[in-house]
Amino acid sequence: MGISSKQLQTELQKMFVSRVSFRKLERKLYGHDIAAMPGLVKPFIGNTIPDAVVQPESETELIELVKWAAKNGVALTPRGSSSSGYGGVIPVRGGVVVDFYRMRAIKNVNKAEQTVTVEPGIVWEKLDNELMKQGLTLRLYPSSYPSATVGGWLAQGGAGIGSYEAGWFRDNVLSARAVMPDGSVREFSGDDLDLVSSAEGITGLISEVTLLIKPLEDLDVVAIGCPDAYDLQRMAEDMIERKLPIWSLVFINPRMAELKNKAPLLEHFEFPVEERVLLPASYIMTIAFRKKDRDAVMAGLDEVMKPCQAELLSERIAEHEWKNRFKIMIVKRLGPSLVPAEVVIPLTRLGDVMAEIENKVDQPVVKEGVVIREGASGEPEVVILGFIPSDQRRFSYNFVFGLSLTIMKIAEKHGGRAYSPGLYFASKAKNILGADTVNRIKDFKNKVDPKGILNPGKVLGGGIVGGFMAIAQSIEPVIRPLGNRISTRIGERPTKPVRGIPADVAWYAYGCSQCGYCVQECDQFYGRGWESQSPRGKWYWLREYMEGREEWDQFMVDTILVCTTCELCNLRCSASLPIEPSWMKLRGKLINEDKKMTFPPFEMMAASLTKEGDIWAAYRKNRSDWFPKELWEKHGPSHKAKIAYFAGCTASHVETDIPIAAVRLLDAAGVDFTYAGQNENCCGTPMLVAGKWDVFVETMKKNIAAIKEIGADTVVTSCPACDMMWRQIYPRWAERLGIDFGITGRHYSEVITEQIKAGKFKFPDTGRKTKVTLHDSCHIGRVSDVYDAPRGFIEAIPGVELVEMEHNREWAHCCGSVLTLIKEPPVAADIGKSRMDEAMATGAEKILALCPCCQFQFRVTAEKKGLPIETIDLARFGAETMGYELPDPNPEVQKQWAVFEAMIALMTPEGFADLMGTMWPELIDAMPFGMGKMMRLMGKIPGALNLMKPMFPILFPRLLPMMMPKVMPVMLERVGERIPMPDYMREQMPELMPKVMDNLMPHMIGDVVPLVTDPIISYLRD
Ligand SMILES: Cc1cc2nc3c(=O)[nH]c(=O)nc-3n(C[C@H](O)[C@H](O)[C@H](O)COP(=O)(O)OP(=O)(O)OC[C@H]3O[C@@H](n4cnc5c(N)ncnc54)[C@H](O)[C@@H]3O)c2cc1C
Ligand code: SF4
Ligand code: SF4
Repeated sequence: MGISSKQLQTELQKMFVSRVSFRKLERKLYGHDIAAMPGLVKPFIGNTIPDAVVQPESETELIELVKWAAKNGVALTPRGSSSSGYGGVIPVRGGVVVDFYRMRAIKNVNKAEQTVTVEPGIVWEKLDNELMKQGLTLRLYPSSYPSATVGGWLAQGGAGIGSYEAGWFRDNVLSARAVMPDGSVREFSGDDLDLVSSAEGITGLISEVTLLIKPLEDLDVVAIGCPDAYDLQRMAEDMIERKLPIWSLVFINPRMAELKNKAPLLEHFEFPVEERVLLPASYIMTIAFRKKDRDAVMAGLDEVMKPCQAELLSERIAEHEWKNRFKIMIVKRLGPSLVPAEVVIPLTRLGDVMAEIENKVDQPVVKEGVVIREGASGEPEVVILGFIPSDQRRFSYNFVFGLSLTIMKIAEKHGGRAYSPGLYFASKAKNILGADTVNRIKDFKNKVDPKGILNPGKVLGGGIVGGFMAIAQSIEPVIRPLGNRISTRIGERPTKPVRGIPADVAWYAYGCSQCGYCVQECDQFYGRGWESQSPRGKWYWLREYMEGREEWDQFMVDTILVCTTCELCNLRCSASLPIEPSWMKLRGKLINEDKKMTFPPFEMMAASLTKEGDIWAAYRKNRSDWFPKELWEKHGPSHKAKIAYFAGCTASHVETDIPIAAVRLLDAAGVDFTYAGQNENCCGTPMLVAGKWDVFVETMKKNIAAIKEIGADTVVTSCPACDMMWRQIYPRWAERLGIDFGITGRHYSEVITEQIKAGKFKFPDTGRKTKVTLHDSCHIGRVSDVYDAPRGFIEAIPGVELVEMEHNREWAHCCGSVLTLIKEPPVAADIGKSRMDEAMATGAEKILALCPCCQFQFRVTAEKKGLPIETIDLARFGAETMGYELPDPNPEVQKQWAVFEAMIALMTPEGFADLMGTMWPELIDAMPFGMGKMMRLMGKIPGALNLMKPMFPILFPRLLPMMMPKVMPVMLERVGERIPMPDYMREQMPELMPKVMDNLMPHMIGDVVPLVTDPIISYLRD
């Protein structure tokens, strides 16, 4: 590299501003792929941490980047979603990883020609979703459809679902544009596509792809089971011979079926929430075809199956296998690692290859196969994705890894080849891609990239790693017995915490396949765009931590805390990992047990909650001010009823239209209910997610006692977070703590809908027509499965049309509220905007929301981003239909947000340093042991304070606790000047602020001191 690291940083920073990362953690996360590299191979590869990661947004930026890299001799490693496992994305010579995440636009859909032109970073699933809106769909896709990118598949080369009919992906590409190292852009089509397809980015950075697509048609699926691989081969051959109009043919082997039967099911609060579909221990073919071809296919299959020991499996199995076609990595949960072995063979040798693998490999090899009617040679081919369950934490993993070479040798013996050269099999490139193609790629590469800056070490040559793998394959017969002898201890879980990580979480970290399905759907990720913020990145980091290569710092603590707890990742995960519950466990470990710092505003909330029962620093005595006077006697605390309405603190103090509307509706619907009034407290959700579990437990106890005191056994809420507490969290915590609970949690929308169904309540017809959309809140949707009730509520209002957002019900995206809003308000507005854009795309006039926090977030986002759509509370919407007038929550929301935003800005090292800068005289005077006087004196002696400078980080943390009480009055005055507090909050600050400072300063002072050192010296000098 002909450039210093400082210069590299300065210049990349200038080019990419916030779309470049030099953070070590981020660089590490962009330095690997899905495969766990065996320890014995690592030394041959060396350091794989790049110098930087950049995220270009356009072809123009790519051009600028490659010119810069060529001039400075900096290696560029392109990266799609890193769902491949051949080392293609591993930056073996440092330099810069080029992440294509931000180049994901669809540029043109040509319906007449049935083509689509896209930027390379678009994920297959997202592209298909957009195409389907226009009655089109993909001809084929990889089974990593939820994460892999179009550019990644073209550069990697491959076949997948739909390949039976469509062949290899390359044959479905019309053209591709790529940026050359001299900054020119070249369009490849026809035979020239060989120069970029399967070239893994060594010949150019793909900036655009035009691919063939097809009309969207209904599909049908059948599954066939047969115990024998020769029969499987015969049937596939016969299907081709008979020209059955099949679109996709994939199969699994009996081992895979066996392990799938044992794989964990999707869980919710530790209970399985899906039914197990048991698969027979046979080869299972899943065949997809157009519905209109059903008769032809079924008649043909009947004939095909006759001479074989095959049977048509149940529809349930067929549907299950099809629905779970992207979840092949689920078996990794049993491993916890998988050694990959992927080969391409002629269909005519399928039986022989399978038999020989069985014969030579004693470890359980799980396989998935893709049949291609017309392969690269024009003859039918089969891609076999093989995996051997193993354990990367053990040395024996190296030997099991060696067995992948056995499988490759077997494939080669039968006229097959490895799937892809990548990094490891670069020495086999001629066998994989064909000698002619490799020679053309080589010539082209020599011409356009003489310095070898584009993805060095891949496809051509092979370098040390390729050499090592070539030697390893030549001694394969020696390695094989070692690999075969290992007793694979599948499923050996840790029983104790690993470096403090709870045993189950430690196990999940290894169970993560790094497939990336969770990444782009995670709002923590898409609000920021960096791997460290995704579940995949966090699992990888945890492995690194457990293996002693990483330590906790505030950045990683914050990374765990800032997850919005939306739980979408749990549903996306290909390994059905309980992801969000794992982060929840870590919150308690980090904050409650290890006493690390939570988000500073939570300390203010905790102080307010402990004092007054709410997080808004409002007085308890005002908690029930919102309650309609005329209903007080009928439903207030002195009324005894089995149902209690629980308002929660945001609704009680900020968005008061919500509880007013809810109790109006409950009353009008004839529900007999009571209310705990001022005995009610915050539900505790903020403290649970803050990791301040001791405050949470105290709050929970008070709430349970309050409800018991009024004699209720059912709590009806209007806030999803409160609902989650009463329905899901309190019962579990109460049981753990031996507290008698016996309370049921419900949402008012369920109660009202029930009354409507029972004919006890009806909305009047106002004659108004309106179109609305509904935002499903995570804490009542994914957490408690309440989707139908709010819809039933809306549909019961005459004249109202409900239009669904693209992501709705269990796939609804998070609003991006509380945790993001508290930690990074600008990110929260970005996340909120993406949800509100989706709402606006429906053409609805209003977003109906049923959560005070989602509404708060949408209102703040709309204000910040200037979005012209109104957010209305669902209960308010219903109550207004009934003619009730309700207060406008917007002014209070904006007022409270101004306080919050200023508070968030203050509670940072920069904020505190700035605040201290306004009170040097008071701070110096408050120093104990006459130190203030001494400092003033030293300020007059030239150079003396500079000599003292190194002492500041030691002195300040010790002195500050003694100074705090003395400077508190002036500090409160200055805080009051900065934060536009309402009177009730200002009055309480003398009590709240010292508690907040006591909790925060020990953590923050280390970051504050460097910021105040020079200013304090300047003050003392002047
Ligand atoms: C669960 C699972 C199922 C899978 N199923 C299949 C399957 O059915 N068929 C199949 O073929 N593979 C499959 N794979 C492997 C992998 O998903 C595919 O190879 C996929 O296409 C890689 O896409 P990606 O975006 O993740 O690319 P990456 O893994 O990020 O990159 C792949 C290669 O392309 C290069 N590259 C990426 N983007 C560019 C660009 N814009 N310009 C130039 N070079 C670039 C990279 O440097 C690398 O060499 C599967 C993987 C998993 C985890
Ligand atoms: S719960 Fe939501 S924000 Fe948190 S990691 Fe999962 S997807 Fe991301
Ligand atoms: S957490 Fe699940 S979805 Fe995400 S990378 Fe890991 S296995 Fe894949």
